This record gives sequence, C-alpha cells and structure tokens, in this order.
Amino acid sequence: MICARCDKPILPGQGTTLALDSPSAGGADVTVHAELCNMPGHQTAPDLTGSQLFAEQLRAAADRVSRYAP
Ligand SMILES: [Zn+2]
Repeated sequence: MICARCDKPILPGQGTTLALDSPSAGGADVTVHAELCNMPGHQTAPDLTGSQLFAEQLRAAADRVSRYAP
C-alpha cells in the first residue's frame, strides 16, 4: 500500500486510514502513515505557456544587451 501523503510504501502495521469528506462527491478513504510523514512539494500553478516562455526569452535577451552598446 502507498501512503497518500508522502507516496512511499506503507509496511504492514504502519498505516492508518482517514475518511476524506467531500461536499460535492462521495468522499474517499485514504491510507497514510500513522506517524506524520513529510509531504513532498508539489506544483500549485500551471507551467508557463509557449507564448509566456517566448516572452521570457525575449525579456532575457533584452536584458543581456547593453543600452550603451553601439
Ligand atoms: Zn507517508
């Protein structure tokens, strides 16, 4: 079984089941380590889109050019 909090395997006797309530769905039972484990960092915002990446590249290229160059 895999821990829902840290995504690491749970050995027999180390897990506990929590019931998650959901206002819009049926909820779910998740199994986590009984002792508090560290939740890995996760992304909370989407990656930049192609046009945003292009704009970042243009800004970076503009920053590399000196205003005083001939
Ligand atoms: Zn865990």
